[in-house]
Amino acid sequence: MAEMKDILTGLDRYEAFLVKLDKEISRMDDYRIGIIYTDIKHFKYINDTYGYQRGDMLLREFVNQVNDIDNKILCAARVYSDNIVVATRIENDLSNSEFRDIIYERNMIIENVLRESYLDRKLTLNTGISIISKDDRRLDAATAVSNANLARKLAKEMKDDCCVLFDAKMVEGIKKEVEITSSLPIALENSEFKVYYQPKIETKARKLIGAEALVRWQKPDGRFVMPNDFIPFIEQSGQVVDLDYFVYREVFKFIAKRIENGEPVVPVSVNVSRVHLNRMGILDYVTALFEEYKIPPQYVEFELTESIYIDDTEKALKLVEGLHAMGVKVSMDDFGSGYSSLNLLSDLPIDTIKLDKVFLKEASASEGRMKENDKIIISCMVDMAKRLQITSLCEGVETPEQSSYLSEIGCEIQQGYYFSRPITQSEFEDFIDNNINSYQEEQKLMVM
Ligand code: C2E
Ligand code: CA
Ligand code: CA
Repeated sequence: MAEMKDILTGLDRYEAFLVKLDKEISRMDDYRIGIIYTDIKHFKYINDTYGYQRGDMLLREFVNQVNDIDNKILCAARVYSDNIVVATRIENDLSNSEFRDIIYERNMIIENVLRESYLDRKLTLNTGISIISKDDRRLDAATAVSNANLARKLAKEMKDDCCVLFDAKMVEGIKKEVEITSSLPIALENSEFKVYYQPKIETKARKLIGAEALVRWQKPDGRFVMPNDFIPFIEQSGQVVDLDYFVYREVFKFIAKRIENGEPVVPVSVNVSRVHLNRMGILDYVTALFEEYKIPPQYVEFELTESIYIDDTEKALKLVEGLHAMGVKVSMDDFGSGYSSLNLLSDLPIDTIKLDKVFLKEASASEGRMKENDKIIISCMVDMAKRLQITSLCEGVETPEQSSYLSEIGCEIQQGYYFSRPITQSEFEDFIDNNINSYQEEQKLMVM
C-alpha cells in the first residue's frame, strides 16, 4: 500500500487527505468546515539562500505551529513543497469573517515564531480559506481545496492582506480571464478590434487640433467590449503588446492614407501599456512603422500613464528618449490620478500632461459645478505646466461650464464628451472635413 504519511512533516499525503475530507464533508453536522490553504512566500528563496536543511526545519516548525494553534483540525496534508492544507471545524457561533480574522492572527504568530527561530528576515504566509457549510455537502473535497487555493493566489497578489476568504465571484473572474486571453489571438485575426478617435479641441480658436486613438472590441454578435473590461486581463498575459501594435498600425495607415489623398491631417495620440517597459520592442516597432508608412513624426504622439513613470522611472525615461529621438511627442496621461510625484515633471522630458478626468468627475455629479478645491488644484497644475513649458490638456470635459473655466485658467486644449465621444474612423474623417467652427452643437449629438 502506498505510504499514507508525508515523511518530512508527518502530515497526511494529499490523496489520503482528500479521502478523509470527503468523508468529513458527508458526515458534517451542525457546524461548518474551513479549508485553510497556506504557503510561505519566497520559500524557494529561503531554500536557495539558507539551504534545504534549514528549509525543511522551517517547514516542520510551520506544521508544528499549525497543529498547536488550530486545535479543531479534522485533517491536514502537505500538498507539495511548502503548500499546506488544513481542514478544521468551525462552530456556529463564529462568523466566516471572524474565522478569517483568527487565521490572520494565527499567521502573524507563526510568522514571528519562524522568523525568530530560523531566519533574520521577515517572512510572510499567504493563506486562502474556503468554507463549507451543511448546504454545500455535495461539494467534493478537491473542489473545496482548489477554491481555497484560488483565494491563496489572490492573497499572494495583494500587498497587505495575507489571508483571503474564497468567494464564488473569484471563479467568474478567472473564467473571464481565460476566456479573454484565449480569444484574443482569434479576435485580432478576425479584425474584431476597431480604432475609435476622440477629438482634441483648442478652445480659443475653437479648432480641432488632434485626436486620441481608443480601441474597441466588437464581438461577432455585435456587442462592444470596452477597454477597461479586457485590457487589464491581456496586460497580465502580455498580449496587450500585440493589441497596441495593431492600434499603432491602424493609426499609421489612416494618416498615410489621408496624406496620400491630399486631405487635411491632425496628430493622433496612441496609448502605451505599462507592459512595453519590460520589452522595449516598441521602439523598433514604431521605427519600422515610420519606415513603412513614411509619415512625418509630428502626426503621431504617445501617451504614457503617470503610473508608468512612477513604476520604473529609469526605463520610462529611456522609452521617452527613444521616442523623442524619432521626433514624436510624448504625454503623461492620467496626470494627478495617482500618487503623482510632481518632481517627475522636472526629471522627464514630457511635452504634454493630460489632467485626469477625476478632477471633473465630482463636477458632473453636481450639475456641472466644479468643487472649489478641484478648481484650485487644476489651476495650480496648469500654471506649473506652463512655467515648465509643458502643454496641458484636460480630459473628461463634459459641460460648457467646465470647458469655459478651463479656458479661463489657460487650459485651452480639451477633450471630452462635451465636444465628442470617441467616434469611428469615418465619423472622424467627417469631423476633420467639417472643421470645425460649429463643432459644439453638432458634435454633442454624435453619440457612439
Ligand atoms: P484613457 O487613456 O485615460 O482614455 C480616456 C478614457 O476616457 C476613454 O475611455 C474615453 O472614452 C473616456 N472619456 C473621454 N471623454 C470622456 C468624458 O467626457 N467623460 C468620461 N466619463 N469619460 C470620457 P475608454 O475608451 O473606455 O478607455 C479606457 C482606458 O483604456 C484608456 O484610458 C486607456 O488607458 C485604455 N486604452 C484604450 N485604448 C487603448 C489602447 O489602444 N492601448 C492601451 N494600452 N490602452 C488603451
Ligand atoms: Ca490616454
Ligand atoms: Ca487619461
